[in-house]
Amino acid sequence: MKASQFFISTLKEAPTDAEVASHRLMLRAGLIKKLGAGIYTYLPMGLRVIRKVERIVREEMDAAGAIELTMPVVQPAELWQETGRFEKMGPELLRIKDRHERDFVVQPTSEEVVTDLARQELRSYKQLPKNFYQIQTKFRDERRPRFGLMRGREFTMKDAYSFDRDRDAAQASYQAMAAAYRRIFERFGLRYRAVAADSGAIGGDLSEEFQVIAATGEDAIVYCPHSDYAANLEKAEALAPAGPRPAPSQPLTLTPTPGRSTCADVAELLGLPLARTVKSLVLATDEINERDELVGSRIWLLLLRGDHDMNEVKVGKLPGLNLGYRFATEAEIMAHFGTRPGYLGPIGLKRPVQVLADREVALMADWVCGANQADHHLTGVNWGRDLPEPDLVADIRNVLPGDPSPDGAGELLIERGIEVGHVFYLGTKYSRAMNATFLDEDGKPKPFEMGCYGIGITRLPAAAIEQNHDERGIIWPDAIAPFTAVICPIGMERSPAVREAAERLYAELKALGVDVLLDDRGERPGAMFADWELIGVPHRITVGDKGLKDGQIEYQHRREAQASKLELAQALPWLR
Ligand code: ATP
Ligand code: MG
Ligand code: MG
Ligand code: MG
Repeated sequence: MKASQFFISTLKEAPTDAEVASHRLMLRAGLIKKLGAGIYTYLPMGLRVIRKVERIVREEMDAAGAIELTMPVVQPAELWQETGRFEKMGPELLRIKDRHERDFVVQPTSEEVVTDLARQELRSYKQLPKNFYQIQTKFRDERRPRFGLMRGREFTMKDAYSFDRDRDAAQASYQAMAAAYRRIFERFGLRYRAVAADSGAIGGDLSEEFQVIAATGEDAIVYCPHSDYAANLEKAEALAPAGPRPAPSQPLTLTPTPGRSTCADVAELLGLPLARTVKSLVLATDEINERDELVGSRIWLLLLRGDHDMNEVKVGKLPGLNLGYRFATEAEIMAHFGTRPGYLGPIGLKRPVQVLADREVALMADWVCGANQADHHLTGVNWGRDLPEPDLVADIRNVLPGDPSPDGAGELLIERGIEVGHVFYLGTKYSRAMNATFLDEDGKPKPFEMGCYGIGITRLPAAAIEQNHDERGIIWPDAIAPFTAVICPIGMERSPAVREAAERLYAELKALGVDVLLDDRGERPGAMFADWELIGVPHRITVGDKGLKDGQIEYQHRREAQASKLELAQALPWLR
């Protein structure tokens, strides 16, 4: 691909409502464009990433014996009434009417349609097992679409559904999918964990989520570093001994103290040695009102380096409490919150919050928080778990870091993750509800044993970015980069030698099957490099007159700080 024939649209700044790195970087790198809440156009650059994700998923699904089909996005309500989900599913299910006032839904998932297909097409045990999958548009009217593709309303999911004769066969199908998922996530080149998830009413242990590890993840993962034990928090809690922990009794008390608004000001106010400040403690959560709406407060307690303006160090432009500033020891955090650094159970707030603490810290008095309004600080801030709202109590967590692992292998740790895949043994839930049966060997009709298996195709790139980025932009793993390599010629217009070398290298790399882009836009080197660092292409080759005189070009991996010289003659075998 040549840049002049492609569409590149980078931005210096991201819109201020983009709260997390992946959302900001996807907008800035020109991967996506917002059309409405949770609804995005996948721009050409972003679509290349999505297509690569799809290709990996497709290859591994095919290799595992799944069969691709495509089911309708718009589905008649009758099928959804058969399982009761048309009524039960609530507002996440988008219901629409046609011109005859007939009800339809926009698929959030497709158990009903695939079960309907199976009851018509799979008549005999001889046709089993079968696993059908699609890579298709889904719509979920999420209560809070946010973080760009991470929680969209319209998004792409790979969804697969297995049909088996009996429970044993269904569990074998499930295991085959779980194994395929491991291969898929290995190929993405991301750090992930497969964690046990709650399989709800169906029971059994046959539900696993595939979580990409990232500090901004919405899910909490409990794991033991000394064994294979890993579960999402809900599952870990279901196994934990019942009963809430003794909670510290200090309520949330805030005393406004008008003052000055930079971290440096606050440090001075507290007599804090700035040199010892560390970026070590993050405590974040959303504030939600009785109607479950985000009312705009995002509370952040941060220990930050240096002289950030407290009114600027925030995410998005949500009003409300913003920052705290203080050092604490591990023992102090334990005493104060009843938990260890690493994870902090909710302190009377709607969602779990996270504490990442450094060990080397100094002692100070009570919290000082900066508010979003200038010159409005709070001192004497204490955090307690006993806020009055009764519905918040349900959120108090039963599993804390340092608890013994259920398998006895050691202590538990907690980290954040992004759910990118989910495998689930369904049993006969849908087949019974829809009377979907096949004739077994004994000539009797039996309900199918089913499983369902999802991957968030468009969430995956967002998760990849959360895990892999720096201040300059995205750092793609090779497997899903929009382009694997980019050639940046310097002064191509002026120098026939540069043009010729760049064009030749481009043709040769292409012939080798490298997904390479030649940046022939004639941009200045600075602008060109900034673009590709933002877009995150992992391998960059620079061709310039100076180097060419010595028969050299430059190579730089996106993770490296500096370019290294490469003999032009050896470039091809090396780059390959
Ligand atoms: P979440 O817990 O994040 O709401 P889910 O458990 O509701 O996800 P599943 O029904 O298990 O999602 O769907 C399979 C996969 O589809 C998920 O693992 C996730 O990767 C993806 N997915 C679900 N909801 C969204 C969404 N709103 N935007 C993007 N991807 C999504
Ligand atoms: Mg959901
Ligand atoms: Mg989930
Ligand atoms: Mg799920």
